[in-house]
Amino acid sequence: MNLILIGIQGSGKGTQAQLLAKNYKLAHISIGELLREEEEKKTWLGKKIAILINKGSLVPDRISVAMAKKKIEEIEKSKKYNGYILDGFPRNLNQAKKLSKFAKIDHVINFTLTDKESMNRIVSRVECAKCGSIYSTLKYKKKTCQKCGGILKRRADDNDAAVMKRIKTFHALTEPVVEFYKKNGLLKVVDGKNSISKVYSDTKKVLK
Ligand code: AMP
Repeated sequence: MNLILIGIQGSGKGTQAQLLAKNYKLAHISIGELLREEEEKKTWLGKKIAILINKGSLVPDRISVAMAKKKIEEIEKSKKYNGYILDGFPRNLNQAKKLSKFAKIDHVINFTLTDKESMNRIVSRVECAKCGSIYSTLKYKKKTCQKCGGILKRRADDNDAAVMKRIKTFHALTEPVVEFYKKNGLLKVVDGKNSISKVYSDTKKVLK
């Protein structure tokens, strides 16, 4: 089973991707995560990527599409999984069209959330530097990860200006992707404002 998770910032797609990956034995592909890994290597490309991410812009399609293609090929070759979850890809129509040339997608899930709720969630979001687990500082007060003990930190691109830009980009470029998958019958909608466990059970229902 191959899935695409779409949603505005903070809609919970990363958290749901981790839960679904474990439950269905799927590989979790987060292009944002792969880009941040490249950034950490401090290569020429990594430095360019960091500038774009930290101001809330998308990286060029040729980079994100190539990363997604390479990762999908690796996963399919490894035969270790029952499929994969694309988290945050495709983010515009061009990426969606390119993806359809090398991937067979079974379901696309759109986690809905208002802009206001998105903003509220992002300002309180921290991520484990080691395993990528996501917490809300409103509910989790510790400085280290419950799962692996890694340090929790705010993402560099979770600043107000970058978040506003990402929200705008979502409406302008990613919403047409939602329409694209609605037209070809793959789209499922899940209300992202509920608790993690409710969103998770609603998601499993739409996958049945
Ligand atoms: P995310 O971790 O999904 O929130 O992504 C963080 C950032 O990585 C985004 O704000 C973009 O700058 C970049 N990014 C992630 N996915 C894509 C994509 N599909 N296309 C272009 N840029 C992306």
